[in-house]
Amino acid sequence: MKVYVNGAFVEQEDAKISVFDHGLLYGDGVFEGIRLYSGNIFKLEEHLIRLERSAHAIALELPAARGELRELVCEACRVNGLTDGYIRLVVTRGVGSLGLAPWECGEPGLIVIADTIALYPEQFYTEGLRLVTVPTRRVGAAALPPMVKSLNYLNNILAKIEARQAGCPEALLLNDEGKVAECSGDNLFLLQGGQLFTPPIGAGSLRGITRGAVMDIAEEMGLPVRECDLTRYDVWVAEECFATGTAAEVIPVVEVDGRRIGTGRPGQWTHRILEKFQERAVSEGTRI
Ligand code: PMP
Repeated sequence: MKVYVNGAFVEQEDAKISVFDHGLLYGDGVFEGIRLYSGNIFKLEEHLIRLERSAHAIALELPAARGELRELVCEACRVNGLTDGYIRLVVTRGVGSLGLAPWECGEPGLIVIADTIALYPEQFYTEGLRLVTVPTRRVGAAALPPMVKSLNYLNNILAKIEARQAGCPEALLLNDEGKVAECSGDNLFLLQGGQLFTPPIGAGSLRGITRGAVMDIAEEMGLPVRECDLTRYDVWVAEECFATGTAAEVIPVVEVDGRRIGTGRPGQWTHRILEKFQERAVSEGTRI
């Protein structure tokens, strides 16, 4: 596999960055996880826009314009002969000193990894996922806006560890007010009374690209979507529940905090939305 690092495609073993890069020292940087389906990159423009916004929010100037990044992402897929895969686009603050000061760092680091994707086990889709609410709260916007897809994922990692300690593969994170935010790396949706519900971005979730695609699909299917604050109770009594993310796509949730959701089996709407999502993913996108 060839990886793009700071100006050149090199073999995986030679893809290295400095130990003084603040991406490593402080998690100072931003990234995107992007999917390639049948030679088409799904929602590439939206990912590039989100990357630009994340970088802007942390006062990091991207080392390349949108057009160059678009081309680089496509090139990373081509040089590796991929038609389906997962692309990680990373921008680090760059090489600096041991102090925090980002203004003392040189050029931002730019990395593009295009690899095959390790999908979630098939069992999660056929039988559904179990979630548990974890003690760690989603980091508040006043501390670090959760809309920023930064290299600092400790908040999410702590949640993931706590879920595992509780015997669940995935976590449900609440915000400081006790409202539902999201899972450790996925957005959350509920179905209740013929409507789809998801927490608003302000509740502490990433503006997921898959979330946006699912909202569009639901509207087209005649399923109204409402963004509103949700409690754990709303989740427990939902008729259906699912999580969305670039890697997971649409994954059914059948148990939360030991409570069965709906019938305890992946729901009909969840299935239909996943099907439509997969149809769309292979038929649209940016041709590499
Ligand atoms: N929330 C978090 C915290 C994430 O890291 C991600 C991406 N893995 C998502 C939600 C889902 O976003 P997307 O659909 O853009 O992958």
